Amino acid sequence: MPDLYRLIESQHPRTTQLRHRLHQIPELGFEEVKTAAMIRAELDRIGIAYVGGVPKAPTATIAWIGNTNKPCIALRADIDALPITEQTGLPYASTHLGRMHACGHDGHTSTLLGVAEILKSIEKELPVCVRFLWQPAEEGGGGGNVLCQAGVLDGRVGPKVDAIFGLHGWPGMPVGIVSTRPGELLAATDTFTATFVGKGCHGAFPHLGRDPIVAAAEAVVNLQQFVSREMDPTDSAVVTIGVFHAGTATNIIPDRAKIEGTARTLNEPARKLIRESVERRCRGIATASGCELEFTWEPGYPPTINDPKMADYVARIATQTLGETRFIPAARPVMGGEDFAYYLEKVPGCFFLVGVSPTQAPYPPLHSDRYDFTDAALAVGMRMFVELAMNFRG
Ligand SMILES: [Zn+2]
Ligand SMILES: [Zn+2]
Repeated sequence: MPDLYRLIESQHPRTTQLRHRLHQIPELGFEEVKTAAMIRAELDRIGIAYVGGVPKAPTATIAWIGNTNKPCIALRADIDALPITEQTGLPYASTHLGRMHACGHDGHTSTLLGVAEILKSIEKELPVCVRFLWQPAEEGGGGGNVLCQAGVLDGRVGPKVDAIFGLHGWPGMPVGIVSTRPGELLAATDTFTATFVGKGCHGAFPHLGRDPIVAAAEAVVNLQQFVSREMDPTDSAVVTIGVFHAGTATNIIPDRAKIEGTARTLNEPARKLIRESVERRCRGIATASGCELEFTWEPGYPPTINDPKMADYVARIATQTLGETRFIPAARPVMGGEDFAYYLEKVPGCFFLVGVSPTQAPYPPLHSDRYDFTDAALAVGMRMFVELAMNFRG
C-alpha cells in the first residue's frame, strides 16, 4: 500500500490553490461554465480522460480510472454556488457580483480534483475502478437527478457503478472530525403553495365578503398540528411557511391570500402522509371559511438514506485512518436536504459530513455570506475518499 498520508500532504497545497481559484468564480446551477473549464483543464494536466457534459447538464464532468473489470465506486462533488453577495473579506473572495460559494462546493470540487490526481498516480495499485462525478446544480436544480437520468451510474456513461460516496463540509464540527449515520441522514425537501381565494370587500364590512387572510392565517397555525398530531412522535418532520402574501391596504379585505412552505420528512411513508395532510388541512379551512383553495405540491429532493453497510464502511475507514475519536456517529438525522439522495435511490452508498470549523467556537453556517470552506478540511476529505477507494472490496 502506498503511503497515502504523504501523498495527501504533498497534494494539499495544490488542492488549496485550486479551491481559492474556484472560490473566486462562483456560478449558479447549470451555468458553471468557468468552473467546468477549470475542472477539465486540471484533468487534462493530470492526464485523465473525461466526458464533458451529459444531456441537460453540459457543465457536468465525468471521468473514471482504474480497472474497469473490477467493482466500480463513484465519488461525487457538487460544483455550483449560491446567489449571495460574499462578505468574508478574503483575499480570494468572489469576483462574481451576487454569487458566492456559501455552501463550500468549491471545497468539494477541489477535494475531488486532488483525489483524482493522487489516485491517478497510483492507478496500477487501485483495487477498483473509480468514477469521478463533478455534478452541477445541487442548490435546487436537482443536478444529481439529471446525472442519474443521463446514465452515469447504470453503465450508459462509463462502467456501471456499484457504490457511491459523497461528502459535505460541516460548520457544526471541528476540522478533523467525520460523521455520518446508517439510514436516514437528510430530509426530503418538498414545497407547496396554497392560495385561499375569498371575496374582497371594504374592511369595515367583513360580512359582505369572504376573508382569505383569516383563512390563510388559520392554516399557518393549523399546519403545525400535522407534526404534533399526525406524525409518529419518534419520527421527525417540519412544516415551515416562509411566504405569506396578501392585501394592499388596512381597510380592504383582499380577494386572495397565498402561503408557501417547505415540508421536510425523512422517509417515503412520512412524505406521502405530509403531502396528504397539508392539502387536507388547507382545504378544510378554506371550506369552513367559504373560500376556494388553489393548491400545488412540488416534489423536492428525496430523503438522503445511507446504505447501512456503506455507512459502516465509512465509519470504519474514518476510525482506522483518522483515529478512534475522529469519527462521531451522527445520533440523529438533519432536516436539510441534498440531491445526493437520487444516487442513493439507485446504488448503495453513503453521504458523510466533514468538519470545517477551525475551532470549537461557532463558525458561520452554510449559506451564510461569511462562510468559507476551511483549507485544512481539504486534507480530511481527500484522505477519506482516497482510503475509501483503496480499501473497497466490493
Ligand atoms: Zn447548500
Ligand atoms: Zn451544499
